[in-house]
Amino acid sequence: MFRDGVLSSSGGRITVRSPWDGEVVGDVPADTPQELDEAIRHLRAVRRPLPPRRRAEVLRRTAELLRERAEETAMLITRESGVCVAETRGEVERAAVNLTVAAEEAERLRGESIPVPGQNRLAVTLLEPAGVVAALTPFNRPLNQVVVKVAPAVAAGCAVVLKPSEKTPLTALALARLMIEAGLPPESLVVTTGAPGRLGPALAGHPGVDMVTFTGSVPTGERVASAASGKRILLELGGNDPLIVLPDADLELASRLAADGAFATAGQSCRGVKRVIAVGGIADDLSAAIATRAGRKRAGDPLDPATDVGPLISREAAAEVERRVREAVAAGAKQLYGGERDGALLTPVVLDRVPPDAELVVEETFGPVAPVIRVGGVDEAIEVANSTRYGLQSGVVTSDATAFMRIAAELRVGAVNLNAGPQFDSPHIPFGGVKASGLGREGLRYAIREMCVTKTVTLPLP
Ligand code: NAD
Repeated sequence: MFRDGVLSSSGGRITVRSPWDGEVVGDVPADTPQELDEAIRHLRAVRRPLPPRRRAEVLRRTAELLRERAEETAMLITRESGVCVAETRGEVERAAVNLTVAAEEAERLRGESIPVPGQNRLAVTLLEPAGVVAALTPFNRPLNQVVVKVAPAVAAGCAVVLKPSEKTPLTALALARLMIEAGLPPESLVVTTGAPGRLGPALAGHPGVDMVTFTGSVPTGERVASAASGKRILLELGGNDPLIVLPDADLELASRLAADGAFATAGQSCRGVKRVIAVGGIADDLSAAIATRAGRKRAGDPLDPATDVGPLISREAAAEVERRVREAVAAGAKQLYGGERDGALLTPVVLDRVPPDAELVVEETFGPVAPVIRVGGVDEAIEVANSTRYGLQSGVVTSDATAFMRIAAELRVGAVNLNAGPQFDSPHIPFGGVKASGLGREGLRYAIREMCVTKTVTLPLP
């Protein structure tokens, strides 16, 4: 466990291996629920909320240190996650930007003053830290997924108990060390690693935790929500994001958004393009253009800067995606490109005429697949887009403003992007899902609010 700025272990270890070649990248302690319980009790006993003026300083300094160590951090992410270094360099910079924006938002954090209508009183709202925040994070983007939880917690003045994915814990520990070096009081951050089935519920349900913020899959999120019953909670869960392409769409743009959105991070992104919904006569040209782009993506060694698509997180994950692709083909889909598997590596797959009820597109498929579903018109596109249990983000490609406004109004999702993919991202805007995709909003300003409790003070006016 990493506590009081020191990593120590009382026994068991978890080995972290590269998904690319199986080499050992490092190991981390396998903490027990008893050790976690003791650490949370200690944290509650000693912690003092960080004074507001120090919060921004710590966050800015962490961003600086991260930029100084950008290359070694990118390499570490690549080695433990298999995501290609061309992308992990971007992830480090994105994390530094998120830390900086969190610092700015920490300085802007303020309540309201409300002259109470009909009464001679003034109400003032104070935004107080929610307390001890438990953060559970997934394997994909092991730096940025941690930053978008820990940075708002620090900005809000909360203490954090972080449980990163057991598949990618080394980057989280490297970030924790940087934050302490940047001046975060060591007693306000605990990082726990261990068997998720034991440690996760023990953390989410711990009486010393005031709020749980979780990012991961829907089934785990449901378990975490039930363990955290009665606590403040934020859930960022799986997605099955559609890119809807109308007949008038710019083909160049639509095919680029589809290919980049489906194949980035080897398709292991919650807001990647998981379904391409082609409306009317554009489907033939669109599928062919996506296949051409897939052919230009280089799959292979993630440490090679020329690689676009690295391995998936494990051989099992890649085999599961391969199985779903095969089943879709058996159900009538036409495979236009890719699909060769070697261990955890899967070359980008492009499928046309995918039946909307294939498991590949009904469930979230976390791999490099661009499945094109053909529909006859806008009504059917909306129906297919809304037909899964997910509702994270979406993209629409068209120059028809009326059709777009209808789609934007009727999609049951957290965001609709015109002439941009579901992968559109900015640290300044809200992010989160509806339906099974989540509860609450991230985006620095919004996550900070979720981690604050509003206290209202009223006073008589003269
Ligand atoms: P996961 O659900 O397997 O694991 C997420 C976290 O939960 C990890 O820290 C894991 O150790 C922990 N965990 C596992 N079992 C647990 C249990 N029984 N109780 C408590 N915690 C437990 O997810 P993953 O495979 O690491 O990540 C991929 C998933 O995350 C995908 O579904 C993806 O869409 C989703 N995701 C969502 C977002 C978003 O912002 N909406 C972002 C990234 C990833």
